[in-house]
Amino acid sequence: MSKSFNPDDISPPAGHYIGGHYVHAKGEIDVTRPSDSKIAAACPIADERLVDEAVQVAKRALKTSNWGGVRPRERTKILHRWADLIEAEAETLARLEASYSTRPIGQLVQGDIAVTAEQLRFFAEFADKEGGAVAPTDDASVGMIITEPYGVVGAITPWNFPINMAGWKIGPALAAGNAIVLKPSEMTPFSTLYMAELATRAGLPDGLLNIVLGDGATTGHAITGHPDIAKVSFTGSTAAGSAIMANVARTGIKPMTLELGGKSPQIVFADADLKKAAAAIISSILGNAGQACVAGSRLIVEESIAEEFTSAIIEHMKAVRPGPTWDAETQYSPIISRRQIDRIHMIVKAAVSEAGTCLLGGEMMNRSGYFYQPTLLADIDQSSPAITEEIFGPVLTMQSFTTEEEAISLADHPQYGLASGLYTRDVSRALRLSRLLQSGTVWVNRYNRSRDHILPTGGYKRSGIGKDLGREAYQANRKSKTVLIAL
Ligand code: NAD
Repeated sequence: MSKSFNPDDISPPAGHYIGGHYVHAKGEIDVTRPSDSKIAAACPIADERLVDEAVQVAKRALKTSNWGGVRPRERTKILHRWADLIEAEAETLARLEASYSTRPIGQLVQGDIAVTAEQLRFFAEFADKEGGAVAPTDDASVGMIITEPYGVVGAITPWNFPINMAGWKIGPALAAGNAIVLKPSEMTPFSTLYMAELATRAGLPDGLLNIVLGDGATTGHAITGHPDIAKVSFTGSTAAGSAIMANVARTGIKPMTLELGGKSPQIVFADADLKKAAAAIISSILGNAGQACVAGSRLIVEESIAEEFTSAIIEHMKAVRPGPTWDAETQYSPIISRRQIDRIHMIVKAAVSEAGTCLLGGEMMNRSGYFYQPTLLADIDQSSPAITEEIFGPVLTMQSFTTEEEAISLADHPQYGLASGLYTRDVSRALRLSRLLQSGTVWVNRYNRSRDHILPTGGYKRSGIGKDLGREAYQANRKSKTVLIAL
């Protein structure tokens, strides 16, 4: 169990990480600690020239190390060593993360970091197991489908789970034989830099993993538009995903994996195990204070149990333990920024002024840092921004239904389709409705990803294109070539 610490004792790595070492640079963007709203560090901005330098370093590293052409088990071994080092250095990594992000120190070593190390090992194991195929052709020829790495992958990650999101991008890209140029969020850049330093210490050839810091408009834009970036892998908002698609289309044609926003429904039937359902829903909307792409933000409950279930949810919500992310006792996270907490509050206020009812919360917490009360809203119109917009905060809306058709119709979102939750003891109903729910994942009688990393994750509709995790994420980092030989 990690101990509490003083964030003023933490000094973040300075600069970018290119070619196996830090490239010092002047901090340009304030990095604010969400737990006490103190500006505690600064993030540099890599311009187009520096991004190009990182891409050229990555290209040269691919050549000199022959990373895509070595015996695949060599890649596996290095990635395993990296995962081991991440675990060995977990406390340092956790402090770096907890100092500047919304992730509490008590949840990092056994949670985000352990899961990330496990996922890196999971991807490492594909390198010497996942290949192409020999196709059935006539016996005068041999038809093969072989796979090859793309080259340099450009990746961009969000601030909400910085270590884990970096692992999702780097693991499959490197295992599949690519080099990578990654930009973490300008709000939480430091843990990703340290992960790169550990990769070098694990024996990863210099230049295969490059971290460039900066904002979306300059650094992100330069990555996605770079002609030598062969594939783009992005996790973030739907708005930024859309801007990236436009930039990629403007500058070339390349494959993209886009993991975007969500507004996930949670349908609870009267026959469900209501205690378990309430616990799952609470952790889905209050974990990281609702700042998760799959946050289960829309509760849709069968009318006959609506009152009883709402009371249970309220009891759970009242029990949260907020605190600074560097306090080992903290369970409930702050909101990432002033801007984000203001936006949450604006949507909540608008919902209430449109005749909605605020059953709990609805205000910022009276403490330093950016903390928002767990909030439950009822009587909300289906077209209200509280239902249609991704709030990215601890705000749950409650709606009720009487028929399955009504439940599915309320669950259906015009734009988002990332995940859905379904709680019932009726197996036939669970299977029937799983088919009807329009989302990339349906969780039944549970919520949130498990540690079965073979299960891919990704969105329907504007929640994204392609998958992270699973075999799919590895395959998405290799292109396929058909070879037909006349005998
Ligand atoms: P964001 O879109 O604002 O930023 C994400 C990253 O993209 C940051 O590094 C940012 O600097 C960069 N960026 C922004 N505009 C860009 C542009 N035009 N070109 C290139 N890069 C650009 O998102 P955020 O606020 O950091 O993260 C929250 C969002 O991420 C939510 O919408 C959440 O649902 C989503 N998310 C999705 C998943 C998933 O698996 N689907 C996982 C985590 C987060």
